[in-house]
Amino acid sequence: MPVYNVMEEVVQAVLQQYKKELQLNCDCDRCKDDIMAIALNELKPQYIVNEKHSPYIRAAHVADRQAATNILSTVVKAARIVSASPRCENTKKE
Ligand SMILES: [Zn+2]
Repeated sequence: MPVYNVMEEVVQAVLQQYKKELQLNCDCDRCKDDIMAIALNELKPQYIVNEKHSPYIRAAHVADRQAATNILSTVVKAARIVSASPRCENTKKE
């Protein structure tokens, strides 16, 4: 079984949960992927082998408020960067 960065799942969950609050200029998949990539480059990866364990690790992150706050603020920063200059087709100026 390949190793897997559970932080991807955590960031995706945060992005989903705070989509409205993030006030994205565009919420297409390309922009969401860009936000995820920027946020994941900032955050320390958490590699695990068996993905059956991931809900527990995610639960641990939710329980650790400081870690959760750090993840959220990193996602907010990433969302600001992408909203300021989206790289997808939707927001291209004509
Ligand atoms: Zn977009």
